[in-house]
Amino acid sequence: MTDQLETMMSPDAHKFATTEHGAYIGGTEVAPNGSMISTVDPATGRTITQITESDAGTVDRAVQSASKAFEGEWGSMLPGRREELLHRFADLIEENAAELAQYDALEGGKPISHVESVDLPLAVEQFRYYAGWPTKIQGSIVPVSAPGAHVYTRKMPMGVVAAITPWNFPLCQAAIKLAPALAAGNTVVLKPSELTSLSSLRLARLATEAGLPEGTVNVVTGSGRVAGNELVSHPLVRKISFTGSEAVGRHLGAEAGRALKHISLELGGKNPHIILADADIAKAAAYAATTAYFYSGQVCFSGSRLMVERSIVDEVVAAVKEHANGLVLGHGLNRSSTMGPLSSGNHREKVEKYLQAVSDSGGSVAFGGSRAEGASGGYFLEPTAVVGPSDSHPVVTDEIFGPVLVIQPFDSTEELVSRANAGHHGLTAGLWTNDVRKAHTLAHQLQAGTVWVNTYADYNAAAPFGGVKSSGLGKDCGPDGLEKFMESQTVWMSLT
Ligand code: NAP
Repeated sequence: MTDQLETMMSPDAHKFATTEHGAYIGGTEVAPNGSMISTVDPATGRTITQITESDAGTVDRAVQSASKAFEGEWGSMLPGRREELLHRFADLIEENAAELAQYDALEGGKPISHVESVDLPLAVEQFRYYAGWPTKIQGSIVPVSAPGAHVYTRKMPMGVVAAITPWNFPLCQAAIKLAPALAAGNTVVLKPSELTSLSSLRLARLATEAGLPEGTVNVVTGSGRVAGNELVSHPLVRKISFTGSEAVGRHLGAEAGRALKHISLELGGKNPHIILADADIAKAAAYAATTAYFYSGQVCFSGSRLMVERSIVDEVVAAVKEHANGLVLGHGLNRSSTMGPLSSGNHREKVEKYLQAVSDSGGSVAFGGSRAEGASGGYFLEPTAVVGPSDSHPVVTDEIFGPVLVIQPFDSTEELVSRANAGHHGLTAGLWTNDVRKAHTLAHQLQAGTVWVNTYADYNAAAPFGGVKSSGLGKDCGPDGLEKFMESQTVWMSLT
């Protein structure tokens, strides 16, 4: 295994990936200790290395270190200097992009060309965008109706932020949390998924190399059950920034409520991607296929429900199938791969269960649905499409997080809106039409945090992103993404 990986990775990246790792605290990596967790290459099912399950003591050291940096050098640093350091951090991510990309391609099973062209630029963009903010954070003068009163507000960082990220976009999600949290003046303890820790550990080293004071960025490795739980319940953590599943989000929301901590939640979606008959059908179908199978459908904003006006269903299904047939399933580190495996064997089984009962509800599997592992032993599943199951079937209502596109024909826009808005998710929606009036009207009727019109999955650090309904609380990106890492203080002075 190691030999095989050696030929697929640069020597430095291979060494880092196959070394055992511990938490990163106070500007240095702690020697691996205590109970260890194996990390697995999902494209082969083989062990890559071991990471430390950070226990209560380790998590406490990480939080204390972040607290010390907040009370010390980072907390008192002038905004202009914070900007310089965040730009330097971004420079280092760019300089080390080729290496960082290999970790997410290996542990996440993502095609490396996608990591290089999507994840890395998005991560850098987060730091560049938020590096521009520290000198622009302002309070306001409040015109109270009281004699002799001078009242103003100031924006303050919260303190130690617990940043908890999912396995599907490890580097990107770390950047989406670190950049605004640091720009606002907080310090961070990052807990990546136990499946994908390498890029976060490397990122923390780059933060130190960039000149961020020791303890400003820390990483605790390990599981949500142990390390994550210890982190969110630590009394010095003032803010939890979580991206992950709805179930864990609900649990953490309740915990944060009990402890009166700030929390923001970026959760899952079952996103309607709508094509009206007047649209550019070829372009819409190409986007529909791309966004359904990108990263094997393991994306929160995957266009997983394709709602198509009935008159064009056959044309769209044929085009999506043609795209799916052209995908090359393979190891993330293999440059010819355009689709990788699912994240684990258990996850693939869960996805397969959704397909079993499709015919019971009037639907059918139009194509795909089989394992495609060849001799690799990895967790591959073919790109799959299901047509016409009942709207109450779990394949329609649940976030499957796999390469399963559900195609739902519709007859009228009234029917479309009520079916698109059914269910408790509200992350994103896509809409293809050449009728500008319909585009705006439908966009306003769709219950989704982001609606893409004649495009899909565009993302930029300046544009707020986050769900409504059960898809989240709070937004990433833009001024909203910064605001959630600050609180305000009102200063009321008597001039009489
Ligand atoms: P997950 O199982 O909820 O895990 C997310 C993170 O939370 C992981 O680091 C996990 O650690 C940790 N965790 C689990 N239980 C915890 C607990 N009790 N206390 C503290 N931390 C805990 O989600 P996932 O499977 O990694 O990610 C997929 C989900 O993320 C999907 O639902 C997807 O839609 C969502 N997502 C949303 C967005 C968005 O922007 N809205 C972006 C990306 C992904 P371990 O995994 O190590 O146990």
